Amino acid sequence: MPPPLDLRGRRFGKLLVVDKAPDVLSASGKTSYRAWLVQCDCGRQEVVMAQRLPHCASNRARKDVIEACSHCRAQRTCEVCGRWFESALFRATCSDACALLQKRANNMAYHHRKVAVDPEHYKRIHAERAARAAADTEFALRLRAQQSEQGKRKRERLKADPHRYARTLERARERYAADPFAQAKKRAARDARMAAMTPEQYAAWSERARESWRRSANKVRSTPEGRQRYRDYMREYMRQQALRGLVAAGDELIKRSLNDE
Ligand SMILES: [Zn+2]
Ligand SMILES: [Zn+2]
Repeated sequence: MPPPLDLRGRRFGKLLVVDKAPDVLSASGKTSYRAWLVQCDCGRQEVVMAQRLPHCASNRARKDVIEACSHCRAQRTCEVCGRWFESALFRATCSDACALLQKRANNMAYHHRKVAVDPEHYKRIHAERAARAAADTEFALRLRAQQSEQGKRKRERLKADPHRYARTLERARERYAADPFAQAKKRAARDARMAAMTPEQYAAWSERARESWRRSANKVRSTPEGRQRYRDYMREYMRQQALRGLVAAGDELIKRSLNDE
C-alpha cells in the first residue's frame, strides 16, 4: 500500500500547502473529499479540496484547478476603466456604468464592421422592413408600436444624461444647418403627418403644438434680448404670412380670370 499523499510544503502558484485539513463533505453528504489547508501569498488561509490542487497529471487536466485563494481569484481588472474590483463570478466590467459604456462600444464596433463590409447594410435592412410593412398591415402596426416604444426609451435615456442630451442637440443643429433642404424636408414630413391625421388627432396635435410653442416662447421672452428677438421673429413671421396671403390671393385672381375667359 503506498503511503498516504502528503502535500505539506508543496507550492502551487500563490498557494503553499500548510497542513492536512479534515475531509470536506459533498453537498449531498454522501461523498467526502480530501482537503488541505493552504496559505496564499496574500496572507489568507483557506481549506481547498485536494482534487483542485494541480499536484498530479489527472488534477492538472481539470478545469477547476486553482493556484490562488478565492479572494485573489476574484480580483479582476475592469476592461473599461482599468480599476481593480472583486467578483467571484466572471465579469468584464466593474460597474453598471462601465458595462453600459462597453456595450455601447461593442455596438459601435458591430456597426462599423457591418458598414465596412457593406456600406448600404443598414439602408438595405430599413428598405426591406419598409417593403414588408407596406405589404403586411399587422407587421406595420407591430413595427410602429416597437419604434414608438424605442423612441420613448431613447428620449428617456437622453433626458437622464444632460451632457449627452446637449451633445445630441448640438449635432442635430449642425446637421440641420448643413442641409440646405432641411427646413423643406421637415415641413414636408409635418405636412404628411398632418394629412394622415383624423380630425380628432389633428385637434389633439395642434393643442400640443400650441402648448409647446407657448412654452418655448415664454422661455425666449424671459430676458430683454429674448423679448427683442421674439418681437423681430414675430414681425418677420407676420410679414411672411401677409406675403403668402397676397400670393394666394393673386393666384386666386389669375385662376378666376383664366376661368372667365
Ligand atoms: Zn490570495
Ligand atoms: Zn470600470
